[in-house]
This record gives sequence, C-alpha cells and structure tokens, in this order.
Amino acid sequence: MSFSSLVQDLSLREGAPLRRPTRGEASVSTVDDRASRTSHISRAMSYASTTATSVSIAGDISSQLHSGYSHPLARSWQAERQLTKSMLIYPLFISDQDDEEVLIPSLPNQHRRGINKIVPFVESLIHKGLRSVILFGVPLRPGTKDALGTAADDPEGPVIRTIQMLRQRFPHLYIVTDVCLCEYTSHGHCGILRDDGSLNNQLSVDRISDVAVAYARAGAHCVAPSDMNDGRIRAIKLKLIEEGIAHSVTLMSYAAKFSGCLYGPFRDAAGSVPSFGDRKCYQLPPGGRGLARRAIVRDINEGADVIMVKPAGQYLDIISDAKELGRDLPIAAYQVSGEFAMIHAGAKAGVFDLRAMAFESTEGILRAGATIVVSYFTPEFLDWLD
Ligand SMILES: [Zn+2]
Repeated sequence: MSFSSLVQDLSLREGAPLRRPTRGEASVSTVDDRASRTSHISRAMSYASTTATSVSIAGDISSQLHSGYSHPLARSWQAERQLTKSMLIYPLFISDQDDEEVLIPSLPNQHRRGINKIVPFVESLIHKGLRSVILFGVPLRPGTKDALGTAADDPEGPVIRTIQMLRQRFPHLYIVTDVCLCEYTSHGHCGILRDDGSLNNQLSVDRISDVAVAYARAGAHCVAPSDMNDGRIRAIKLKLIEEGIAHSVTLMSYAAKFSGCLYGPFRDAAGSVPSFGDRKCYQLPPGGRGLARRAIVRDINEGADVIMVKPAGQYLDIISDAKELGRDLPIAAYQVSGEFAMIHAGAKAGVFDLRAMAFESTEGILRAGATIVVSYFTPEFLDWLD
C-alpha cells in the first residue's frame, strides 16, 4: 500500500474523506483542511510504521537483530571466541633425510622436511607469531620399519632429534608430538598386531605409552596419542607419573578420531598407508556419535588434559559434544589434510575465495566449541591475522 493511498484509507476509516477541490473551485486549503491533513498524515505515518513492523517481525520487538551487527566490530563481537595465533598448532612432517625439503603433491604448499631444513622454516614462522607445532616423523630410510615400530622412539630418529633441537633453538615454541606407530610399522597399522592381523591392544598400549614417555623425556611439552587403542591415555598418564614428569607434560588425546576418506593427503605425506586392511576396527565410524561421546568421557576419566576431535569440519556436532562433556577442558580440533585440500581445490575451481573459506571453516570449528585448531593454514593465518 502506497503512503498516499494509506492516508486515503485512513480518512475513509475515520469517516472523514479528504475534500478534493471540484472543477472550477479554487484550490485553496482552509486552516481546518490543513490541520485535518496534518493530523491524517501523522496518524498514517504512525500506522505505516506499525503496519510495516507487524508485517516484518509479527509485532515482536525482540526480532530486531540487524542493529547488533551492522558495524564490522559489532559483527566480530557476535562470536563467542575469535581465532588468535595462540589457538593454532601447525603440523610438521619430519623425515629422516636430514637435508630433504620435498613438496607433498596432494597437500598444497606443504613440505616434508629433514631436520636441517626445519630450523630456518620454523624461525620464519616464529617471527610471524607461531606458538606451537605438532611433529610427525616420516622414516624413509629402507629397513627402518618393523612389526613393532621400533624406530618410533629411536633417540637418533627424526622426532626425538627435532624435539631436542627445537627446544634448544626456540625455547618459547610449544612442542606437541603425535604419538603413534603407524609411520614406523612395516604393516602401517597403529599398534602391534596379533597373528590374525588384528590389533593386540595390550602390547600396543605398552609400546605406545613407552614412545610417549620417550618424547616427553626428550622435551615435548605435549604428547598426543592418535592410535585409538583402548586404555592408552591411562597407561601414558601412569608412566608419566612414574617418570616424575606428569606435572609438566600435557596429555592431548585424539579421543574422537573418525575413520574416513579425509586422510589421503596425510598418508601421502607421512607414508603411513596400511599394507593391508584399514583402520575401521579402531577409528570411529563416521555415524558413531554415541561412541565418540563414550570415548571422550573415557579419555577424560583416564587423565587427558585436552580432548581432540578429528576431522573437524564434518564433525562439528562431535566438537560441540566434546565441549559439553569436557566443559572444563580445552577442546582441540584437527582440520585434516583432506579438508585442507578440499578448500584449496574449491578455491582453485573458483567456488569461493581461499582466505574467506579458511576463516569461515575455522569460525565454524571455534563456534562448535574448540579453542585449539590444528591447521595446515597456520602459516597463512599468521599473515592474515596481522
Ligand atoms: Zn596411527
């Protein structure tokens, strides 16, 4: 309804139609006419306002939301938490070829590096505000892998040497080490196997907790078991206590780690493809929300300091569950290699802008409840957050 017809409509409702000049009559408004018109217009404006409001918000004033986020700063206030540099952990793939620096084809802009290439690279990121890295060892030397993953805690292996070197060179860098056997076992599974090829949980937990303690003794600030064997959080915690170092080593559990098809580029990078079978017997099924909740509660009760959910973007409900169940713990989310590669592929195909989607995906992760994000976008975020 136009404003003029609204005035007319109101006049009719009032039973006092506006007097239009007839042909030949001078179009001179009387004082009464003008007063009447003003009154009609004023009432019409008030009516129009009420009508428009009732149309758009059904009369409920609490529906007026735009005012809260019309300014960019006010928009940022709408987030419960915003990405900061200290929330980011950057994955580093460290090979046993000390001078190697090789681009990982399926993981855009990511390299596998030998220990001699790590220092200058990490140094450049620290200048930009890098606070934390997570280390993955990649043994490439022939004959290194065996059924027990012996090389995982080799004092001369790439992980332990890198922990020691980073601690010495960058005393303020927080060092997380992934703890698993799959990079080091000849069969590529995350533990020690029985003859029938299934995981021997007890032997695996014994071995993995030894590896975790070795990394902690080498100087890791945080050990993060990703193997998914039952009971490994408790075993690691007890061994750290026995060693007298539990008070200074954070135990971050990959509590809810789902199997799926988002790890392909990582396995390229880490050389950890299983030689037979898959990891479905120990990683969670993608639909297993209840199972994830049980795993999260279990690992909290076994002594985890941080709960991790992996992957992140497809499992935001699980991150939210982790925050609910672990209300008093920091929650970490790993935006895995497949998520990262998908975002790059989408941007390359012109579907969206890379930077905008990197932020949007991370905002979703934070909104779900995480305050720690393991991300291959870390180097870019260090620039973008400036
Ligand atoms: Zn593994």
